[in-house]
Amino acid sequence: MTVRPIEHFIYGQRTQGTSRRTHEVYNPATGEVTAHTLLANAADTEQAIKSAKQAFPAWAATPPIRRARILNEFLQLVKKHKADLALAITAEHGKVFSDACGEVERGIDILEFACGIPHLLKGDFTEQVSRGIDNWTMRQPLGVVAGVTPFNFPVMVPMWMFPIALATGNTFILKPSPTDPTPSLIMADLMKLAGMPDGVFNVVQGDKEAVEVLLEHPEVQALSFVGSTPIAHSIYAKGAQSGKRIQALGGAKNHMIVMPDADMEKTVDALIGAAFGSAGERCMAISVAILVGDVADRIMPELAERTATIKMREGNDPEAEMGPIVTAQALERIKGYITQGVVEGAHLLVDGRESGVGSHPDGFWLGGTLFDHVTPQMTLYREEIFGPVLACIRVPDFATGLELINKHEFGNGTALFTKDGNTAREFGRQVQVGMVGINVPIPVPMAWHGFGGWKKSLFGDTNIYGEEGVRFYTKQKSIMQRWPESIAKGAEFTMPVAR
Ligand code: NAD
Repeated sequence: MTVRPIEHFIYGQRTQGTSRRTHEVYNPATGEVTAHTLLANAADTEQAIKSAKQAFPAWAATPPIRRARILNEFLQLVKKHKADLALAITAEHGKVFSDACGEVERGIDILEFACGIPHLLKGDFTEQVSRGIDNWTMRQPLGVVAGVTPFNFPVMVPMWMFPIALATGNTFILKPSPTDPTPSLIMADLMKLAGMPDGVFNVVQGDKEAVEVLLEHPEVQALSFVGSTPIAHSIYAKGAQSGKRIQALGGAKNHMIVMPDADMEKTVDALIGAAFGSAGERCMAISVAILVGDVADRIMPELAERTATIKMREGNDPEAEMGPIVTAQALERIKGYITQGVVEGAHLLVDGRESGVGSHPDGFWLGGTLFDHVTPQMTLYREEIFGPVLACIRVPDFATGLELINKHEFGNGTALFTKDGNTAREFGRQVQVGMVGINVPIPVPMAWHGFGGWKKSLFGDTNIYGEEGVRFYTKQKSIMQRWPESIAKGAEFTMPVAR
């Protein structure tokens, strides 16, 4: 069987470039290879940078409202083709179709925000900072900017970046994950259809080789990255070395504290959805449940029962609650963590390694997995697993739970389930994590609030999207102006002050 190549999109055209290296794309539900991603070399990547550079002056000079109108056309097309995008996500990532639709919807939120960009580019003006002098500030685009994105949200995470980068007048190069690249080309085609000028939005398929070029090339002014922590850290360091603006979002280990006064039924629902939705392959998934006092004894039988009976199916099956793991390598990595957890003494209550889907024996299946009596020393607790594995820790009180969260190296998201307002308030104030849910298991902020973790979950100064995204993709210019009639005669040798 010949499989289709996944191409680049440069200066408004699909192109195969010059590299012959490829990466296999699978349907994770069947284990079949469905395409191969072309992996750009330096010349291919430079071609995309050249294209974005060429398009920049005209795009930057386009009035923000006109840029927003083209993005609005794109937004309408994304809405129209939501199902096509979601189907492409399910086919290559494996997540269930309804979840993939939700992903596209969260991307749409950011596009809608970006369509209001003229309001956010208004700038500030002060009349008469000194006699006859006015001062104003404005924000201007950086130039060519790039985005490097992970496999787990092939539509939403790129849309955390490019709508705002483009709306503010930059030209953009997307380097998506080679594991599920088809949605990037659907988005590129829709951009063209929306009337986006050639070169404003480009896609380079690739891996480390392309990213290195983006990080070192003097024409690339800024790079947004979302992926695992070791790569995020190295990208932050290398980008800073070459003087670029970088925001690099990394991995996570999100804890949810359950207080004895919480509504147990709703808490179990929340834990099951947040731990096993998208097979746990979400940076905001809950992977640790901190059960306070007698909570564990009260919910564990129900939690185990629900974990064992999750409907694991191929993502297009309307009954499916959880799809497969993205690749065979990821499956092996997660199974390794489960084995290690048993060796280190955690109690394995539900073993997902025993589950499969009979109709697709070669798919990358792993059922929901539940551990009890996990301790902070265990590998299972310390490291990001990024799979359908929920680790439960028993603690005597709220303070011990909070201390665990604050000591952990990651600080992406967290949640507290309680009915007590004061505990909730103290949690919000004291927890060392960027995104906090009170009776909300996955607190992904809305488009205008911005998204970002703390500690090793984000390297850089600004959150992604929202007003912080606008600041990231623009630089401030401050202008002072006076006219000859108001200039006093004679040279001034002292520091100018208001007169
Ligand atoms: P990954 O780090 O393997 O890859 C992310 C991107 O970096 C991909 O485009 C990949 O091609 C590229 N890349 C890989 N190795 C590289 C290297 N050595 N040099 C330069 N670029 C390289 O991550 P992944 O497996 O695709 O995604 C899962 C990870 O992403 C998890 O750790 C998850 O927590 C994280 N994630 C974080 C957030 C967040 O908002 N903090 C959101 C989604 C995913």
